[in-house]
Amino acid sequence: MAPSLSPLRSHHVAVIGAGAAGLVAARELRREGHSVVVFERQKQVGGTWIYTDHVEPDPLSVDPTRPVVHSSVYATLRTNLPRECMGYIDFPFVARSGGDQRRFPSHGEVLAYLQEFAKEFKIEEVIRFETAVERVAPATEGGSGKWRVESTETEKRVRRDEVYDAVVVCNGHYIEPRLAEIPGISSWPGKEMHSHNYRTPEPFKDQVVVLIGNSASAVDISRDIAGHAKEVHVAGRSNPADTYIKQPGYINLWMHSMIERVNKDGSVVFQNGQTILVDVIMHCTGYKYHFPFLETNGSVTVDDNRVGPLYKHVFPPELAPWLSFIGIPWQVVPFPLFELQSKWIAGVLSGRIMLPSKDDMMEDIKSLYATLEAQGIQKRYTHRMGIAQFEYNDWLATQCGCPGTEEWRKEMYLTTGVRKRTTPETYRDEWEDHHLISQASQDFSLYTH
Ligand code: FAD
Repeated sequence: MAPSLSPLRSHHVAVIGAGAAGLVAARELRREGHSVVVFERQKQVGGTWIYTDHVEPDPLSVDPTRPVVHSSVYATLRTNLPRECMGYIDFPFVARSGGDQRRFPSHGEVLAYLQEFAKEFKIEEVIRFETAVERVAPATEGGSGKWRVESTETEKRVRRDEVYDAVVVCNGHYIEPRLAEIPGISSWPGKEMHSHNYRTPEPFKDQVVVLIGNSASAVDISRDIAGHAKEVHVAGRSNPADTYIKQPGYINLWMHSMIERVNKDGSVVFQNGQTILVDVIMHCTGYKYHFPFLETNGSVTVDDNRVGPLYKHVFPPELAPWLSFIGIPWQVVPFPLFELQSKWIAGVLSGRIMLPSKDDMMEDIKSLYATLEAQGIQKRYTHRMGIAQFEYNDWLATQCGCPGTEEWRKEMYLTTGVRKRTTPETYRDEWEDHHLISQASQDFSLYTH
């Protein structure tokens, strides 16, 4: 007689956040037979893609008591990935009739896509909107594995204190700004802000603006502002010290090396020797991981932007599988990666997929840290993946028994990356990877009708 398979276990799981990560987590957990409650402090799904013209009262977002505005999206933002590449694997991000048909669409189109995803898989029925999770802690001191989740429904002021078998953290990591350290800044008289609080270029009319950063936000926002400001200067930490380049196609946009210091008279001195009188410094310097609600007695810490220890950037060995994180890796194609992480977590919780022992997971993490150190990669880049994301995705897919990343998606990501760097003004409207688009559409025909 064939051995009988042990039945899969179903658990009661709390998911924190209904952005792109929380939505797909809810879908995969339910698909695997778990019961799910999603906590979302906003009124609707979509997380960072819910554009608002509100900004935080503290333009640098450093005051811990400030009212938090979740979204960092600005009015003219278009995606920096082509829609074929960006969408979930089995729910393609195709153009909708009446929607923004562009290949690199606006933020509103991404929000509409996520809303459609939630509707298609009936995820809203398990979401508690306007409900903020305030505390997540082990339910008992003895370590039963269960979690106490304390939340407040903001409108009705209802507080809940509940116990769940497992918690999946999907709270996003683009709200707690990182700032550049600038010698002399405390007595500099100009205005400072973080790109988290940037929405439109009009307030910068006739001003001299310095943006700090080399990332997508600095590239895009500098161009957005250049149409209105008197001068725009971009300072990048990784630019060589003598960098001073006028951006082709612009009369008022320059690239510089990093700021050396700022002075009481309002001037900014760059490492390249240039001195300029400046009205506004905008930090486009990224964000920090932040889990203000999470109490793990030191089992998970954030140290110089390394969240750890986390096995494969998801499970803290000490608390696995009852606590997990989706969306920690960066410099990735987020939605498909979230999807694979979600499938893995769902399968591990049900007992269909096995995790290694706690010791083996720790060994794996130590070996990752050792490799990074040997390569001279700083701690804060622990979760930066870039090209390594595809090997990671394929590893997850193998665990889950599903196909890995499609070849066209990999190639499209790489091709777009090159074009983004070489032609930042035009890469969203001109491209040559038509053969990859056809391959994507062929795959999509499996999922769309
Ligand atoms: P989020 O979208 O931030 O969602 C987290 C959710 O958790 C939010 O709804 C929040 O309200 C909720 N939450 C947080 N804390 C609590 C709590 N305590 N209680 C209850 N709810 C809580 N990705 C791309 O693929 N393509 C792009 O072109 C692209 N452009 C980007 C541009 C900008 C400016 C930014 C900031 C990001 C961009 N990204 C892009 C990355 C983007 O963040 C991810 O695509 C993805 O949307 C992140 O989803 P998430 O669910 O992890 O986080």
